[in-house]
Parts: sequence; C-alpha cells; structure tokens
Amino acid sequence: NRRFTLKSRPHGEPTNENFNFESVSVNPESVKDGEVLLRTIYLSLDPYMRGRMSDRKSYAKSLEIGDVIIGGSVCRVESSKNPKFTEGDYVLAYGGWQDYHITAGKECINLGKDPKQPSYALGILGMPGCTAYMGLLKIGEPKAGETVVVAAATGPVGSLVGQIAKIKGCRVIGIAGGKEKCEYAKKEFGFDECLDHKDEKLAEKLAEVCPKGIDVYFENVGGKVFDAVLPLLNTKARIPLCGMVSGYNATELPKGPVDRLPLLESMILSKRMRVQGFIVTLDFWDQFGEFYQQMSTWIQDGKVKYLEQIVDGFDKTVDEFRGLLVGKNFGKLVIRLGPD
Ligand code: NDP
Repeated sequence: NRRFTLKSRPHGEPTNENFNFESVSVNPESVKDGEVLLRTIYLSLDPYMRGRMSDRKSYAKSLEIGDVIIGGSVCRVESSKNPKFTEGDYVLAYGGWQDYHITAGKECINLGKDPKQPSYALGILGMPGCTAYMGLLKIGEPKAGETVVVAAATGPVGSLVGQIAKIKGCRVIGIAGGKEKCEYAKKEFGFDECLDHKDEKLAEKLAEVCPKGIDVYFENVGGKVFDAVLPLLNTKARIPLCGMVSGYNATELPKGPVDRLPLLESMILSKRMRVQGFIVTLDFWDQFGEFYQQMSTWIQDGKVKYLEQIVDGFDKTVDEFRGLLVGKNFGKLVIRLGPD
C-alpha cells in the first residue's frame, strides 16, 4: 500500500519535503464485520486540501503531522464484510492519498458494478459540480439577461457555473489563466467572453465586456480578479463566495493599501449587495439529490460539457497538486492510481 502522509506543514507553496511517501502493508484478513477493503482507482485533487495542511482554524479539522492526506476517491471493493457492498463495486469514498483503505463505509456511496464514467463522481456529478450548481442557483440567483462573471473558468467549478448561467439565459464572462484556456472556455463551454487574468489590462478589458455591469460574481479566486470586478458590480449584485485560490499559498497580506475594508463595506452598503460564503458539504449536502438529477439530465441532453485531466501515476500526485494551486491543471484534475 503506497501512501502520502503529511511530514510538515507547507509555508507558502507546498514542496516535496512536506510529504512522506510510504509503503505499508494492508492485511485483507484484518477486515472486520461491517467493513470493506477498498482499492483506489481515481484520486481527486482539489484546492481545499491546501487548507487542511495548515493549522489555521477553519470549518474543517486540519490534518495532523503523519496523517494520510485526505481526499475524495473512486475505489473498487476488494473484499467486503458489509452487506451494502460486494466485491467489484465502484464506490465514491474518502480514502485520501493511498492505494488501499479499510472503512465501515458510512461516508461511501456505492456506484454499482458498471458506472458509465466512474471518475465523474469526483467532478461534474460530485462535490465540485454540486458547488457550482448550489452556489450559482441558490445564492447567485441569476436571471435571464443578467451578466455573470466567474474565474478559474476551465476548472470543474468555474466551467459549470458558466454553463449553468448560460442555460439560465445570462451573459457569461469567464476569467482564466492564458490564451488556450480562454479560447477553450468560449469554444467548448459557450462563454460569451473569457479574459486572461495575467493580462495587465484585465480591469479595462473586463469593463469593456461588461457594458451593463456585473450582476453575479461567483468568487473562486480573489486577488487581482476581485479588484477588477469590484468597481463593476451593480446595485443588488450577488456574490457567492466559494473560494479564493489565489491566496491559498499566501504567507502574508497582499501589498497595497492595508485596510480596504471600509471601501468594501461602503460599496456593499451603497449598492445593497449580497455576499454569502458557503461550504457545499455543510450548507447544501441535503439537496445533493436535486443537483444530481438535474446535472445528469443536462449531461444526457448535451447541455453541459465536462473537461477532465486524468494523470496516470500516483508518484505524480504532489507535483500535480502544486500545479493545481497555480493553474497548471486544465480541467478537473484526477490521478489514476491503477487499472479499473
Ligand atoms: P480548479 O480546477 O479550477 O483549480 C484552481 C484554479 O484556480 C487553477 O486551475 C487556476 O486556473 C485558478 N487560479 C490559481 N491561482 C490563481 C490566481 N492567482 N488568480 C486567478 N486564478 C487562479 O479548482 P476547482 O474548480 O476545484 O475550485 C475552484 C474554487 O472553488 C476554489 O477556490 C475552491 O477552493 C473552491 N471550492 C469551494 C467549495 C465550497 O464548498 N465553498 C467546494 C469546491 C471548491 P487558471 O489557470 O484559469 O487561473
């Protein structure tokens, strides 16, 4: 059983030295009544994992030094003493960065023997998909004709926010890192425009493509993108605050005027905006069924597209995770540990 554990807490960008790569044996005989032995096939890499590696107080418990790095995974049942699972079933699990784990299966969802696209459970039909759906529709409340802006536009959350907003009849502006991603967002996901956040003229260009201002800003990244968005927000704008990935590796406050809170607060007040943070697993998990049904229908009807980047090789996990935090991924990042 290969696994990655936390060796030390990253300061800034994670490095190889923050992780231990270990090999430990797992004894199939040790599976007790009610438990299953799972083998990881697909491991999801997600930005939130960076937060768990730090000891800052947050909505979820931090990893301890020596813990296996957490993460969603699609596994197969190797052996089972739990009536809900039989050998060979695909299971959505939370086994983290390792080949095998034994669990009582309470947190697991059985995907059956032959799911069409097992890895979709980690993206479009799983946590990131639900994040896009709930954040946009329940908090953003987009109306036809409104302008919606979202960054990380080719990632699982951003790409789905944009496509759902298009389904709802909105004008959709994406923001992504680089020309290739911007072209992809327009051509494949149907965004009306997509701008490169590395462009020094981002603020001016955003103003040009949002002549009627911004009604919904789905916040995925923070930083410079938020600076460009802020002056364009309309009265009664809604901001689902989903993540701020541009700052996940930050070790200090950004340079510039130190306290911009009064400016921000006065804008929220005078424009009567609504900013609402959410954690999908805490706020919307009871509505997962609604999301799942609707998203499955959209997929079937060809209304939404999904981009996955599946990387073969467990040994690449750390490098790929580092890349995810700085935009080297192109689509939903998944590590394939072994054959189905
Ligand atoms: P992505 O696969 O989109 O990966 C993150 C992307 O962020 C990168 O690919 C990169 O895209 C972009 N990025 C990185 N640094 C910067 C920067 N400095 N400025 C602008 N963009 C940057 O991730 P997800 O779709 O999985 O997640 C998107 C966001 O949603 C994250 O903030 C995540 O934490 C959040 N999230 C929140 C949840 C919740 O419940 N609140 C649940 C799930 C996700 P590019 O190259 O295009 O810039």
